Amino acid sequence: MKIDEITYSVIVPSYFEQDNLEKLIEELVPILESKNATFEIILVDDGSTDKTWEKIQALNKKDGRVKGLQFSKNFGHQYALLAGFNFAKGKAIITMDADLQHPPKFVNNLINEWEKGFKIVNTIRIDSAKISWIKKLTSKLFYKIFSFLSGVDINPGMADFRLLDRQVVNELLEFGESGLFLRGLIGWLGYPHVNIEYKAAERFAGTTKYTFGKMIKFALDGISSFSLVPLRLGIILGILTSLFAFIELIYVVSVRIFTEVAIPGWASGLGVVSFLFGVLFIIIGVLGEYIGYILVETKRRPRFIINEKIGI
Ligand code: UDP
Ligand code: MG
Repeated sequence: MKIDEITYSVIVPSYFEQDNLEKLIEELVPILESKNATFEIILVDDGSTDKTWEKIQALNKKDGRVKGLQFSKNFGHQYALLAGFNFAKGKAIITMDADLQHPPKFVNNLINEWEKGFKIVNTIRIDSAKISWIKKLTSKLFYKIFSFLSGVDINPGMADFRLLDRQVVNELLEFGESGLFLRGLIGWLGYPHVNIEYKAAERFAGTTKYTFGKMIKFALDGISSFSLVPLRLGIILGILTSLFAFIELIYVVSVRIFTEVAIPGWASGLGVVSFLFGVLFIIIGVLGEYIGYILVETKRRPRFIINEKIGI
C-alpha cells in the first residue's frame, strides 16, 4: 500500500490486554468504516507475556487492516506509541488505550475536529466513572507541578488519547530523546490545537498497568526532560538556607562578643547542621537525576526493540 492510501492510523499500546483487544476492534472498526476512508489499526504489544500477541495475530488474520508490532520486552506505553508513529501511514494518527477506557465512539469527535483543521486534537477526561480519588489527586497534583516546572501548560485529565496530523507526527519523529514524555512534547510543539472533553469509561477487562512505580518514573521523566527549574530551585534553596545559617552565625557570635556569654546548645547547632545537610542532599539528588538523564541520552540506545511485525 502506498502512503497516501491510508487516511487514519489508530495506535493502541497493549500490555496484558488479551481480553480487551477483540472487543476494542469490534467497536472501533465500524466507526472507522463509517468514515468511508481507508484505515489501519496498529496494536503494539509492549512485551506482554499473556496471550496478547496471539490475539493480535488472530485479529490480523481476520482483518488485514489490523496490524501488530511486538516489542522484545516491556519498554513502556510512551515507547509503544512512538513505535506506532514510526510505522503509521495515515494522514491522521489516533492514539488510544486498549482497555476501552477511551471510548471508541469518541474517535468520531476527534476526526470531526481534525476535519475542521486542527492538527492536534487532545482529549480531557472529565472524571466520572470509577477513577480512584488517589489517581485523580495525584494526576492533578502532578500536572500542577509539571506546568509550574516546565512552563508547558498541560491539563490534568489529559491522557494519550488524541489525534495528530501527519505533519505533527513527522515532527515528533525528529525528537531523539530517551525520556519520552509525549504530552509535554506535543504541548511544546505548538500548532493549532483543540481540547475536547470525554467521559472515561471503566476498564473493560484486566487491571491497570500503570503501577505506582511506573507513574513516578513517568513523572520524573516528564519533569527532568522538560525543565531546568528543579536545578534552579536548588540554587534558590541553597541561597536561602545559607543566608539563614549566616544570620544565625552572626547572632551567635555577636551575643558572645557583646554579652560575653556563649549561647549553650549544641542541640540547636546540630539541628541547623542536619537541616542544611538535608537540603544539600536534596540538591545533590536533583543533580544526580539530571546527570543520569545526560548519561542515558549520550548512550543513544534504541528506544525500543521490535521482535515481530505483522501486517506491516
Ligand atoms: N500500557 C503499555 N505498557 C505499559 C503499561 C501500559 O503499553 O507498560 C498500555 C495499556 O495496555 C493500556 C494503556 O497503556 O492500553 C494505559 O494503561 P492502563 O490502562 O493500565 O493505565 P490507566 O488507564 O490505569 O492509567
Ligand atoms: Mg486504562
